[in-house]
Amino acid sequence: MNILLVGAGLSGAVIGRRLAEAGHAVTIVESRDHVAGNCHTERDTDTGVMVHIYGPHIFHTDDEGVWEYVNRFATFMPYKNRVKTTSGGQVFSLPINLHTINQFYGKTLRPDEARAFIEEQADTSIEDPQTFEDQALRFVGPDLYDAFFKGYTIKQWGVQPSELPASILKRLPVRFNYDDNYFFHKFQGMPEDGYTAMVERILDHPGIEVQLNTRFTRAMGEGYDHVFYAGPLDGYFDYELGRLGYRTLDFERFTYDGDYQGCAVMNYGEQSVPYTRITEHKHFAPWETHDGSVCYREFSRECAPEDIPYYPIRQVREKALLADYVALAEQTRRVTFVGRLGTYRYLDMDVTIREAMTAAETFLEKGAETPAFVAAPL
Ligand code: FAD
Ligand code: UDP
Repeated sequence: MNILLVGAGLSGAVIGRRLAEAGHAVTIVESRDHVAGNCHTERDTDTGVMVHIYGPHIFHTDDEGVWEYVNRFATFMPYKNRVKTTSGGQVFSLPINLHTINQFYGKTLRPDEARAFIEEQADTSIEDPQTFEDQALRFVGPDLYDAFFKGYTIKQWGVQPSELPASILKRLPVRFNYDDNYFFHKFQGMPEDGYTAMVERILDHPGIEVQLNTRFTRAMGEGYDHVFYAGPLDGYFDYELGRLGYRTLDFERFTYDGDYQGCAVMNYGEQSVPYTRITEHKHFAPWETHDGSVCYREFSRECAPEDIPYYPIRQVREKALLADYVALAEQTRRVTFVGRLGTYRYLDMDVTIREAMTAAETFLEKGAETPAFVAAPL
C-alpha cells in the first residue's frame, strides 16, 4: 500500500521504518528543513558542541524492547542526568534528595530522620492532592515548595500551581538517600552522534522517501491508502474549533570560553530570574572534549499561532476542546493521529517509540481499518 506519514520526528520515523520493512511504500512530509522533530541535534559551528536545538533530551526507559530498538540505530553512551537548581543564593541538587534536604535545612539527617522531618513539614491534612500546589505541600511542605517549585512552575506554565494538576509534579521523585539521578529508569543514555543521526538511520530504507520543507495539506492525503499524522491534532482540522493551548520556549544562545556552569542543566527556582533553566550542551557529551561552550537560557511563554508548540497545557478548557477534536478525528477515515502533537500529550521519547511501534503493528494487522487513535488522547 501507499502510506503518507506527516512529520519526520520519532513517531514518523519508527512507523515508516516498520511499514517499509513490511513492503509498503512510505512517503514522509516534514515542514522543517531537518528530520528528528524536537529531538533534533546539530553541531554548533563556533564550538563543535552537539546542541539539542529544541531543548535538552535525555533518553531513559524501562522498556527493554524500546532500548533494543534505539540501540539498533545508535551507539548509546552512558549518561546520567544530574540536575542542579539555584535558589536563595545557593546551588542545590535535584530531584529533592537527602543532600538537598540536609543542605537546605543545615542538618545532617540520616534517611529515616529526614523522612520523619519532612513529614513534619508536610501538610498532612491534604489527603488526596489534586493540584500541583497541594501535591507539593503534602509531600515536601511549604519551605521546599517555595524554594524549588513555586517560582519555577509559575515561569514554566504561566499560571499558579494551584491551577495545575498534581500529575505534573508526580513526575519528580523525593528521595531519602543521596541518589541524585533525575530519572529512575533502568536504561539511560545519550546517542553518541546525536538524535538526528539516529533518526536518519531509522529512515534509511529504500522503501522510505522523505520530503523536507513540505507542509502537509489534507488534499495531499488523497492519493494514499492511509495517513499517519504526527502534526498538531487541531492543525489537521485547520483549527476550526479553536486552538489547543500550548506553552512555547524561547532559547537565548550564548557562548563561553571554558566551562560555564559545570553541569548540563541548571534550574532557577526563583520567579525573579526570568528564565527557567540554563543548558550547557557540552556536558551532554562527557566523552567529547571542547574548549569553548554553548549554552541556552530557556524562557517559557504562551504559544502564539506562529510559534513552535512544546508543552500541551491540558487544563479544563483544553480538555473539553480536545474531546471535540477527538470526536472529529474519529469520524475521519484512513487517518491515524500519533505522537505528542497528534494526540496532544506530553510524551517522553521512549513512550513515543513504543506507541509508534504499536501503531505500525496495528496497521499491519488491520490495514485501512486502523483506528484514528491507537493511544487514547483523553
Ligand atoms: P515531534 O518531535 O514534535 O515531531 C513532529 C514533526 O512533525 C516535527 O518535525 C514537525 O515539524 C512535523 N510537523 C508538524 N506539523 C506538520 C505539518 N503540518 N506538515 C509537515 N510536518 C509537520 N523526551 C525524553 O524522553 N527525554 C527528554 O529529556 C525530553 N526532553 C524534552 C524537552 C523538551 C523541551 C520537550 C518539549 C520535549 C522533551 N521530550 C523528552 C519529549 C520528546 O521531544 C518527544 O517525545 C518527541 O519529540 C516526540 O516525537 P514526535 O515524533 O511525536 O513529535
Ligand atoms: N519543576 C519545578 N522545579 C524544578 C523542576 C521542575 O517546579 O526545578 C516542576 C515544573 O512545574 C515542571 C514539572 O516539575 O513542569 C516537571 O518537571 P520535569 O523536569 O519533568 O519537566 P520537563 O522535563 O517537562 O521540562
